[in-house]
Amino acid sequence: MLLMTTLNTNHHNANRDHLFFNKKLGISYTENITTLSLWAPSAENVIWRIYDKGTAGRLIIETKLLKDQDGFWEASINKDLHDLFYTIQVKYQGQWLHEIPDLYATTTGVNGQRGMIYNPKETAPAQWDKDQYVSLKSYTDAVIYEMHVRDFTKHPESGVKDKGLFLGLTEESTHNSYGKTTALGHLEELGITHIHLLPVSDYCNLDERTPNEGYNWGYDPLNFNSLEGSYATNPYDGSQRVSEFKQMVYSLHKKGIGVVLDVVYNHTGIIEGNYFDQTEPGYFFRYHEDGVLSNASGCGNEFATEKLMARKYIIDSLKYWCTEYHIDGFRFDLMGIYDIETMNIIASELRKINPSILLYGEGWTADTSSLDESQRAVKNNTPQLENIACFSDNFRDIVKGPQFSDDSLGFISGLKGQEEDLKKAIIGGVSHPQVDPEYLINKGYAWAEKPTQVINYFSCHDDYTIYDKLKMVLPFEKEGLLIKRVQLAMAINMLSQGIPFFHSGVELLRTKKGIRNSYNAPDFINQVTWSSKKGSIAQLSKYIKHLIQLRKAVGAFRLQTQEDIAHNLIFMEEYHQGIVGFILRHKDKHSVFGHKLLVVFNNNSEAITVDIPKANWVEFDLQEYKTVGEPSSKTSITLEPISTSIYLML
Ligand code: CA
Repeated sequence: MLLMTTLNTNHHNANRDHLFFNKKLGISYTENITTLSLWAPSAENVIWRIYDKGTAGRLIIETKLLKDQDGFWEASINKDLHDLFYTIQVKYQGQWLHEIPDLYATTTGVNGQRGMIYNPKETAPAQWDKDQYVSLKSYTDAVIYEMHVRDFTKHPESGVKDKGLFLGLTEESTHNSYGKTTALGHLEELGITHIHLLPVSDYCNLDERTPNEGYNWGYDPLNFNSLEGSYATNPYDGSQRVSEFKQMVYSLHKKGIGVVLDVVYNHTGIIEGNYFDQTEPGYFFRYHEDGVLSNASGCGNEFATEKLMARKYIIDSLKYWCTEYHIDGFRFDLMGIYDIETMNIIASELRKINPSILLYGEGWTADTSSLDESQRAVKNNTPQLENIACFSDNFRDIVKGPQFSDDSLGFISGLKGQEEDLKKAIIGGVSHPQVDPEYLINKGYAWAEKPTQVINYFSCHDDYTIYDKLKMVLPFEKEGLLIKRVQLAMAINMLSQGIPFFHSGVELLRTKKGIRNSYNAPDFINQVTWSSKKGSIAQLSKYIKHLIQLRKAVGAFRLQTQEDIAHNLIFMEEYHQGIVGFILRHKDKHSVFGHKLLVVFNNNSEAITVDIPKANWVEFDLQEYKTVGEPSSKTSITLEPISTSIYLML
């Protein structure tokens, strides 16, 4: 029953690191034999137990793992173990720790208490071997849509059968009661290139047996290589979630939509008794000199990404998601906790698997770290990261107003006098000869060297929706005007240099009823309200679809270098309060967009006439996506109140 593999290794450190890095850990399954390997150098004993159920049930096999001189433990069982569940238990300093799934468990029983062994071949949808990653010529070609699996289809009017589940994103031709396209069809209609899913790996603060009695965003990770059970039709059978998630990825890929996962390796959901400390206590986290846990996550601990086996854990996990599930990108929660070297190894390893993979993260932390900032992937260190992008808080703050102040105005709510900051946002965080740092209210000029490393956003799952934020600062404004302000925000987002990212439901005037941190708020707060898609809100959605279409049609909105931006994007020189405009030169052959485009953003509540360079101009109507009238020689144009004007030089 028990086979032993002894590793005879006696290398120098570099070789040892290499060996450690390449060591396969976790379950290796075949129909004849299943092997379990783990790393726990301080363990005195490790027991592997096989059960018939994910909780309680019958113990079928119990066996000991054997240790080698490098601290790896291993055992094999000569039996077909598929559909069975397992735990490991470590004896440390004379005490037996908790029974847990191993850290590499690729799926689990209900609530992630035991690992589950399954046959990967049985979880692949038909044609899965032909499934392809979404390829990108430039990272700036991506248009990212941030969403939560459950929020997106949970609403009664989603028209989806499997509401709130992975399968909900496989259903085609769904509509609300007004006949408007919803869910997957809505994504296709908008023309976004990638969805970005809030965490889908197993998290702990939602009982998978009764998911509708709770809710969670999922930033409380439990099993990092297993999917969350509450998004599957059956949370008890761990292979079901694997197969349903693959069907979801396949359905999206068929529409040309990539899947980015929000990953949360920076901390664990359970602090005391987490699975890492139940395997190799004290190793995987950062500590202060006095032995207290460092807590840059603000959640209680902080992963020590710079340590060999912690780094290996993250890299193995990401490679697994990338190969097993064909994932197109990762968004790193609190990326400012990760060390720069780990991030660069991640980039190089993942690009060997998928050259188009999108990598970006939050270039900040929630609290202070014991690891010096010079070594961490914070926003100011972006130039040291290998094609990994950071969220632009500068973009966010100038568009909607500073994050941490409820009554702050941004450009879209009528802020005047900070036009230079908006110019900085438009050039994607790089430097530009016409943007003078002297005039910037918010410092942090030119934090990136390439627009491909800048994620432009104005709202996301965190904080108020853009509609709620506007309601807060302009409580008496009519909805028609609020819609114009959302249009302005999305136009700045789509027509700026960098990588555009927007929060699911901006196009549907989504509200979270004024709740800012809705991480555990009920569905009626968090869900996307599909019944809204009608009338003026359906028009808003159409306007945003057209912005995306325009961005895709004109390559000059998606430049890849600082030099190209300086050369092709020329700001209007004359200063007007609340107005920023630029001319974009582009070289797209046979383009219906002429050879230059004029884009002008106006946040004034009245129409304003501005001078433009004398040329043959024709207006382009974004709502209808067509030119208005004939080209004619113009030296001035009139901007509508709270608007984006586009003129083509023909
Ligand atoms: Ca869970």
